[in-house]
Amino acid sequence: MTRTNPIAISIEVCIVQKLTLWYIVAESPAAECGAWSQILKTILLVLVFVAIAAVAAGAAALTMRGGEPPADAIPASKPSRERSEDASMNSRATVKKVDGALRKISRAAYDVTPLARARVDELARKLKPEEAEVILSKGTERAFCGNLVDNHKDGVYVCRLCGLPLFASDAKFDSGTGWPSFFQPFDKDHVAYVNDSSHGMVRTEILCARCEAHLGHVFEDGPRPTGLRFCLNSVSLEFVEKGTALPESSRPIETQVAYFAGGCFWGVEDRFQQTPGVIDAVSGYMGGRVENPSYKQVCYENTGHAETVKITFDPVVITYKELLAKFFRYHDPTQFNRQGPDYGEQYRSAVFASSAEQEEETRKFIEEQQSSNPKFKARKIVTQVVGADRAGKFFPAEDYHQDYHAKHGGHCAMPEDE
Ligand SMILES: [Zn+2]
Repeated sequence: MTRTNPIAISIEVCIVQKLTLWYIVAESPAAECGAWSQILKTILLVLVFVAIAAVAAGAAALTMRGGEPPADAIPASKPSRERSEDASMNSRATVKKVDGALRKISRAAYDVTPLARARVDELARKLKPEEAEVILSKGTERAFCGNLVDNHKDGVYVCRLCGLPLFASDAKFDSGTGWPSFFQPFDKDHVAYVNDSSHGMVRTEILCARCEAHLGHVFEDGPRPTGLRFCLNSVSLEFVEKGTALPESSRPIETQVAYFAGGCFWGVEDRFQQTPGVIDAVSGYMGGRVENPSYKQVCYENTGHAETVKITFDPVVITYKELLAKFFRYHDPTQFNRQGPDYGEQYRSAVFASSAEQEEETRKFIEEQQSSNPKFKARKIVTQVVGADRAGKFFPAEDYHQDYHAKHGGHCAMPEDE
């Protein structure tokens, strides 16, 4: 029978990835030798082949998302040619309605919500005529005339109109064109792209994503690592030297951090990455007895760590309590030292509070859920709550664990009513 259910395929892909990883770990020199180890390896190998065959049968009938590059690959290859109304869906920026308006936060934690026309008009009053000619009327300053072409100081280049950081000195290079040139933006969500066919040429115009100020154009003849050349007008930018206080409009928003452990961190991280209000999610280890543990140590040396996800979030968009509610939907808090097929202390359900307030809120939330949520009427919540004073350090996991599902097999399915 051919299966076309993407959730089933996603689960099978997870199983293949997990079995393969176990096999690699069992094969390593650090693994125990002996007859039992050999038998275990043989069983794992057979299971990998069986699971691969099952995935292949299902995947043939399904268009997988795995062939698409992750959203992060965009600035490293080509900028999108069209400015899409739905651009937020292709980026890591999070969007949610707050007080009836959209609020969009970049991965670098800047508010990149598009400004209202009235606010842009208000800001534009401060512009000198030569600045307005470029920024508002899409003009171009003459080559070698801008004041930032030969600027080699360390710092950040912010939007002249709204203050959003757009480029940084570590991506600036001498292109010889007479205009300030960069190989990548400060954050890919800070710059927007539109087709420009004026002057008998087809070019890609770049705009400030927040206020739509005209910045310049981007070309595909830049240096490594991106191969892009962002060609800027000096008057569209303002330089803030390193060590100088940034104006308020050029600062990131205030963020908060939560640490949740709910079984294999690949799935937990992936679901939180898809959650509006979450700016970033990182897989790692917490709650154990040794510093900087490796995945192998956590699996085989009884270090006591739980696979944990560090979540950086925007408290204006999602509260800590709302985040807890998501966490309880993304995993089963009634399974003790296990989560589905994954058994062991490293897969325990746990919350590592980052403040006394978070600890109190977590305990209260669990009490409420246990007493009033019918889902937990006959099942005890076993989530471990660790106070900020005992939580210890969070250790990020190895690179190959980060964004695992996005890199390898598409995203995890979200609960149905998300
Ligand atoms: Zn701007």
